[in-house]
Amino acid sequence: MLLDPCLASEVPEASSQRGLNGSTASLGVLMGHCFRRSSGRGWRLRQRSMALWPNWVSQLDHPSSPLSLQTPLVQLAASAEEAERMRQLAQARRERGLQFLEEPALPSAPTPWPRTGHGALLSEQDGRVDPLGLLRALRRAFKAQGGTLRSTSARRLERSSAGSNGRWRVVTSAGDSLRVDAVVICSALGSEALLEPLGHPRPMEAVLGQVLELKRQDSQASWEHWPAVLTCGGINLIPHGERQLWLGATVEPGSEANPSLLPAMQTLNNLAPQWLHDTERVGQWHGLRARPQGRPAPLLEQLEPGLILASGHYRNGVLLAPASAEWVSQQIDGSILTAP
Ligand SMILES: Cc1cc2nc3c(=O)[nH]c(=O)nc-3n(C[C@H](O)[C@H](O)[C@H](O)COP(=O)(O)OP(=O)(O)OC[C@H]3O[C@@H](n4cnc5c(N)ncnc54)[C@H](O)[C@@H]3O)c2cc1C
Repeated sequence: MLLDPCLASEVPEASSQRGLNGSTASLGVLMGHCFRRSSGRGWRLRQRSMALWPNWVSQLDHPSSPLSLQTPLVQLAASAEEAERMRQLAQARRERGLQFLEEPALPSAPTPWPRTGHGALLSEQDGRVDPLGLLRALRRAFKAQGGTLRSTSARRLERSSAGSNGRWRVVTSAGDSLRVDAVVICSALGSEALLEPLGHPRPMEAVLGQVLELKRQDSQASWEHWPAVLTCGGINLIPHGERQLWLGATVEPGSEANPSLLPAMQTLNNLAPQWLHDTERVGQWHGLRARPQGRPAPLLEQLEPGLILASGHYRNGVLLAPASAEWVSQQIDGSILTAP
């Protein structure tokens, strides 16, 4: 059973309808293979997710909730030093589809890419997945597997008395009291309030992200020779439709959007080609990322038997969804098998 008040409504169709949670606001960029580090938990989770994504997509793709992986991803080098790091990374990960493109080898697209003058890293297997499509597909698959969706929130969790069925009692805002063997807390900024009373403080802070939807004005607009995602100075440009693109996202501690950050984002900190200056702003939205305080993201912990925390994914919750879900499934198997 999945409890979430946002299940009261359908997954939004358009950006303008997106609310303030992480997933509906996300750009869905998957930067796994081009992750700079080559060791540690962050790298292992990314590697695992990228290995699982193709299978996830083929299992979740359905006529009523189509899903695809959009590739490739290109990251422009910001400096000669970064270009050198990218060259080395490309050499080490050639078999993962990484290739360094020297500046003269960058394609001359009808809609010119922004240029830094230092070349770019091409990652054939990185890219993006549509987060709204993913949410729709997950809801459909969950129901198809017999899962129940309840549009209510968990108000508090209680340990059940010994000997009774189910270790945990979930008290919902609708007034129900549900007995369960295992609870998976994946409620981002709503997780802390459930955990604190149980003696598991896991503070998280909100980090807001703003996204712009822009429309090209010229009638000759074409995205030929564009990757699914082009990243310039940490800002993602994601073409969609014939003339539109998403641009984002800002990284702003707190939950108040600061409009003064948008011009710098739209001009790519002075690297924007003229056509980008000339685009019309047709939409914008923002959402909140949950960043764990004092602990690395994400939080994947079995806190007590049957009390599983899988949250605080900060900037990579879509990318890491398959690896996190796999980790959760391993914990649930274990916790049920060890039940008294
Ligand atoms: C603008 C923006 C761009 C991003 N771009 C990317 C990207 O390109 N790639 C990437 O990998 N990640 C990206 N992220 C981050 C990513 O979106 C998040 O890490 C991810 O969506 C987090 O998913 P989540 O399910 O943990 O949290 P959320 O999507 O925030 O969902 C938490 C849910 O918990 C529910 N909830 C809260 N409290 C309770 C309760 N008590 N009971 C029941 N339900 C509760 C809420 O209603 C909510 O639906 C981006 C985020 C933002 C804001």
